[in-house]
Amino acid sequence: MSSIKKEAERCLRCKKALCSEHCPVATPVPQITELFLNGEIKKAGELLFNNNPISAVTSLICPHEKNCTGHCVLGRKGAPVEFYRIEQYISRFYLETMEIPEIKRNGIKVAVAGAGPAGITMTILMLLHGYDVTLFESEDDIGGVLRYGIPPFRLPRDLLDLLKDIMLRMGVRFRPNTRIGSNIMIEDLFPDGYKAVFVSTGTGRPRKLGLVGETLGHVHFAIDYLKSPYSFRLGRRVVIVGAGNVAIDVARTAIRCGHSYVKILHYMGKDDMTANHDEVEMAEIDGVEFIHNVQAVRITEDAVRCVHVERTENPDGTLSFEEDYSQVIDVPADSVIIAIGQGPSADIISAGVKLTQRGLFDVNEWGETDRPGVFAAGDIVSGPKTVVDAVAFTKKVFVRMEEYLEEQTKTK
Ligand SMILES: Cc1cc2nc3c(=O)[nH]c(=O)nc-3n(C[C@H](O)[C@H](O)[C@H](O)COP(=O)(O)OP(=O)(O)OC[C@H]3O[C@@H](n4cnc5c(N)ncnc54)[C@H](O)[C@@H]3O)c2cc1C
Repeated sequence: MSSIKKEAERCLRCKKALCSEHCPVATPVPQITELFLNGEIKKAGELLFNNNPISAVTSLICPHEKNCTGHCVLGRKGAPVEFYRIEQYISRFYLETMEIPEIKRNGIKVAVAGAGPAGITMTILMLLHGYDVTLFESEDDIGGVLRYGIPPFRLPRDLLDLLKDIMLRMGVRFRPNTRIGSNIMIEDLFPDGYKAVFVSTGTGRPRKLGLVGETLGHVHFAIDYLKSPYSFRLGRRVVIVGAGNVAIDVARTAIRCGHSYVKILHYMGKDDMTANHDEVEMAEIDGVEFIHNVQAVRITEDAVRCVHVERTENPDGTLSFEEDYSQVIDVPADSVIIAIGQGPSADIISAGVKLTQRGLFDVNEWGETDRPGVFAAGDIVSGPKTVVDAVAFTKKVFVRMEEYLEEQTKTK
């Protein structure tokens, strides 16, 4: 692996930078690289932060092969530039050394519900533009999935502590352990002077398989497990149902917690996996075993009963999968973890805002809900997606929220 300086020197600083074009937040890669090589690391950090306040996070956990790295022109004939490594260094350095700018406060109050990537991004953008922000979070700390889902070996928590410290120094009022939609409703906020509400409460409710055995004592849901893995007594043999990125995080965490037998049950074939290729490879290195083409049909006290799934490639290139109930496999398990996706929690979707068929917040292209002054972004709008997508849409919503707040304050 080359040093980050050598990596930066390899960058061609293309006029039409495909890396930037394929980054959901359009990170200005050539300009950052130029500043970095000219010894202007603080300026580079500031540019990154103002474009994406959580670049220290996304540079670590973005699917780079689909975004910047995957589109670097040097990758056509050789090794692409790994810009994210340069970005990681600059962004962390900037968070560690950042001086909070003098910001003229405008006295306008906004509420942000949910302190995950979307909520943190909106809070920082609002604070930088002079708004008074109160950030409501149902957990005891900020981060959302970044703190309570993604394992620490992929994302060090001290980055989140740095972001929290920056928000506090910028003047955020933080209300931890406070659920919006439960003890405080959205409509309670406006009479207290909030001019707009941004909802970014994510999709924290795990989806069920709907199988017999799902309520047994040795069966758990992936995101509950990832929140505090050491609270769980899983036994030796851990079987995970589902094979997306969340399942991979569970498997790699379980291995690190000392469970030597960790198997992932996957409905489709190896080539059809939705999880990032790198993550699958790392899981295999760690010792995780994959059982492909099986469908769980029942959970018993000591096994997951599966049937074989026949995979057929149709003449038009599409795939079809058919369960073959004559081929039954019992996969022994001391515990079973279900990782088949998440949806929004019940309290927030009963907040009175129009929902989509999937139960997500129904917003327009600017994140406006059908309730004036209530905006939303992140997974509560898109369903489970990526951190950088949550940041990208939040930035767009911020533009509209500012316009809305200006209109409101002019008419009063
Ligand atoms: C295990 C796992 C691994 C992942 N790995 C990656 C990865 O490597 N790379 C990547 O790009 N993406 C990854 N993702 C997806 C990514 O984390 C999400 O797309 C992203 O976190 C969405 O951000 P968000 O702010 O919308 O929601 P969240 O991160 O879910 O944050 C929502 C916040 O709102 C809080 N909240 C919920 N309800 C309320 C309420 N009623 N009132 C107040 N607060 C509330 C929650 O406690 C939480 O803090 C992963 C997801 C999971 C589950």
